[in-house]
Amino acid sequence: MAQAAPVIGRFAPSPSGRMHLGNLACSLLAWLSAKSKGGKIVLRIEDLDAERCPREYADLLEKDLAWLGLTWDEGGAGGGPHGPYYQSECAPIYDAAFARLSAQGLLYPCFCSRAALHAASAPHRSDGDVIYPGTCRNLTPAEAAEKQKHKAPAWRVKVPDKMVSFRDGHLGPYAENLAQDCGDFTVRRGDGVYAYQLAVTVDDARMGVTEVVRGGDLLSSTPRQLYLYAALGLKAPAFYHCPLLLAPGGRRLSKRDGDDSLENLKAKYTAAEIIGKLAYVYGLQPEPAPAAPESLLSRFSWRKIPVQDIALPEGLF
Ligand code: GLU
Repeated sequence: MAQAAPVIGRFAPSPSGRMHLGNLACSLLAWLSAKSKGGKIVLRIEDLDAERCPREYADLLEKDLAWLGLTWDEGGAGGGPHGPYYQSECAPIYDAAFARLSAQGLLYPCFCSRAALHAASAPHRSDGDVIYPGTCRNLTPAEAAEKQKHKAPAWRVKVPDKMVSFRDGHLGPYAENLAQDCGDFTVRRGDGVYAYQLAVTVDDARMGVTEVVRGGDLLSSTPRQLYLYAALGLKAPAFYHCPLLLAPGGRRLSKRDGDDSLENLKAKYTAAEIIGKLAYVYGLQPEPAPAAPESLLSRFSWRKIPVQDIALPEGLF
């Protein structure tokens, strides 16, 4: 019988600050999902925006993950066979993907400013972003060259007027018509920084990631990424989107209120206490008793994890 392919999951944090309860909870689920199948975890640092993501934050993040017992098998400062693991070092790799899309005639320069798009009352996506109305799609090469003298363009990928659908491993079927629900989207910003959608697709593929576990707020990014996988001839992983944690009463967790920073939590609880409370919230154990990640492996099942976002019980953290 053919052996099942090894499971490779990943942590893909953006180190623009300390970890907070939301990232930490998704990291726990990513770890449990991969490790309960005998898989591995890759740590990729999503520091595309190098100015907002200094290396000290990435180092702190590694310390926080290790403190929690959320181990990884390759990546981060320790490196490994699929480096670079810092997106800030991957521009040549993204350049190659960009060239591949460009050779298919899928890219065009866009000179619209974010402010102008918002002001133009273009329709909005459910996540608040503007559905790009295609303003720059049909510029002639001469018009684009003229505009380029005054402004470095962002680059957008043309999307087709058809449904992209997939089955989320946790949430079930999901579909979007990219042209109607999203519009042509940015793959490189005007300042030359590659966009999350392109970078995450290229990196998950080249690191051999077979399952992506991340917050439900990224569910609607997945059709865009699937479109890029197909355009780049890459194999897409399985996707599992987890419920977001909300503060007691249901408001969004906010760093400003200090209710979810790992710094605060570390001052109050041991790692096992934090993991145990999260496991309780996710229905993996009946009480919020301290637990090491390994001790949850035999109890983990996606079927136990709620589908809806979860308001933390009052007084739990
Ligand atoms: N870097 C993103 C974040 O920290 C996660 C991206 C992903 O999991 O695809 O929110």
